[in-house]
Amino acid sequence: METAIATVSLSGALNEKLAAIAAARFRGVEIFENDLLSFDGTPRDVRRMVADLGLEIVTFQPFRDFEGMPGVQRERAFARAERKLDVMQELGCDLLLVCSNVSPDSLGGIDRAAADLHALGERAAQRGLRIGFEALAWGRHIADYRDAWEAVRRAGHPAVGLVLDSFHTLVRGTDLRALRAIPADRIFLVQLADAPLLDMDYLSWSRHFRSFPGQGDLPVIDFMEGLQAIGFDGLVSLEIFNDQFRAGSPRSVAIDGHRSLIYLMDRLRARTGVAVAGFEPLPPRAACLGVEFIEFALEERGAAALEALLAGLGFHRAGVHKSKSVTRWRQGGINLVINTEKEGFAHSYYITHGASVCALGLKVDDAAATLDRARRLLDRPFRQAVGPGELEIPAVRGLGGSLIYFVDPKSELGAVWDIEFTPTAASGPDAGLTAIDHVSQSMHYEEMLAWLLFYTSLLDVAKTPAQDVVDPGGLVKSQVVQSADGSLRIALNASQSPRTLSSRFLDEFFGSGVQHIALATRDIFATVARLAANGVRLLPIPENYYDDLAAKTELAPDLLARLQESNVLYDRDGDAEYFQAYTATFEDRFFFEIVERRGYRGFGAANAPIRLAAQARRAQAMGGA
Ligand code: MG
Ligand code: MG
Repeated sequence: METAIATVSLSGALNEKLAAIAAARFRGVEIFENDLLSFDGTPRDVRRMVADLGLEIVTFQPFRDFEGMPGVQRERAFARAERKLDVMQELGCDLLLVCSNVSPDSLGGIDRAAADLHALGERAAQRGLRIGFEALAWGRHIADYRDAWEAVRRAGHPAVGLVLDSFHTLVRGTDLRALRAIPADRIFLVQLADAPLLDMDYLSWSRHFRSFPGQGDLPVIDFMEGLQAIGFDGLVSLEIFNDQFRAGSPRSVAIDGHRSLIYLMDRLRARTGVAVAGFEPLPPRAACLGVEFIEFALEERGAAALEALLAGLGFHRAGVHKSKSVTRWRQGGINLVINTEKEGFAHSYYITHGASVCALGLKVDDAAATLDRARRLLDRPFRQAVGPGELEIPAVRGLGGSLIYFVDPKSELGAVWDIEFTPTAASGPDAGLTAIDHVSQSMHYEEMLAWLLFYTSLLDVAKTPAQDVVDPGGLVKSQVVQSADGSLRIALNASQSPRTLSSRFLDEFFGSGVQHIALATRDIFATVARLAANGVRLLPIPENYYDDLAAKTELAPDLLARLQESNVLYDRDGDAEYFQAYTATFEDRFFFEIVERRGYRGFGAANAPIRLAAQARRAQAMGGA
């Protein structure tokens, strides 16, 4: 199977797009006419550039409003087509993509469309070129791939074939069974795009919200399964119109595109048991057994302040690294690592971001296989020199240049604490915190789809639907990736408004990163009482919140009073209950959340605006002081 991507999917000028596409190891490219028109160079220049990059132009598009035109408009449509064929010959491209007519002037009738396609095919064939016909979901008379196929079939010309587009097919919920009746050699091009489920007209949905396979909610894999069943192994191209991609770096978006195809074809192979030519099988997605550790990069003064906060949260210093300025803080199953080294990765991360979470350590079933899968998915493995007696822990680059380490119970990585750390004696009572419940990362809006794909392609996690959360400074989009048993939950947050807490974090932090860490307890009131005794201040929640809670729930008055005096937020889903409280923000950067789940699977979305408003008030008060 050959892979390509359309220039429209990426930002930048045509030369930048082509360089990005080649760098992401695509072989083919669809040239969008607008990218050519806005390029300062001739089609022959483009042809040379494409050849120099080792690419091939697989189609030139779009050619609109062609079939079924009456009278003089029909003549004009053919005259326009001749000019496109001229350009294609200069470009060195042999396939013109004709999309179904949307003009109110067009006449219906499948035979009329077929006759026009035949006539155009004849003209193309004289030049050694071909045309491919695609049904747009909003086509005037042809909006369904089955009708497009019927027109192509009746055209009966070897230079006329079908273009299938997963978006146009799947958003209409078209039955996919008819795919299996199309001869594979009549399909000249397959275009792939995913999209979130939205209630929107097809045109706007397509122009702004397409995404790479796996980033949205459409069953692109069912579509591919149908194609595999007919033995299609031709050209598959990503055609994505997406505002976030147009704001992103063309190089990283192109790599995301390739990653999405590798992941899609691997899922297809896993589902059908049939290998996809050109795609090697990957090791399975890593089963995540939990967060083994979270590592903070700090300098000494900041480290002392964070250690004081951790002690207040009931952590104790459990170990000191044998050769580095690194300590391990522990409580229940939680490990927090404080790194104040003056060189190496954590230090450079600190130089860029200040006090921050520089790495997540994930416990997986097989760390080596996870790294292997990451490599094959075009993720970026990370290595740095290790000292004598230290383990080389497999790692890949995560959000904002941070690291994700993989440890597993089956190798000596599982004994990293014993191998690299000298234990120190525990002192003082803990606060009942047992595990890392979730980690929340803030990122630029245009990065969100990339990181969703990163996590879901590498780890055995599913994504929840995206939610809009109200921040006093604007809307924040929030989406969670999580393993089925909840051992890993990462909340991804992004905002287009510069005034939300999420966006201000990016400014302060000089980039994307971990904004908060939620720690689980089995008894939030006992934990909060211990924190209070330790002098840890929690985020104050306004009285109005509790008045409202009293009005909309049937909570007993004494429980309500306890929630209020403890600054604990409450949510319920059926019989399941959720309790949450927040610490103040550490050096304006990150904060901790304490959560107790009683069968509850969500994240207290209803409480998020209350928390965000309380944090905004606090930030203002601190700024004014
Ligand atoms: Mg298309
Ligand atoms: Mg949270």
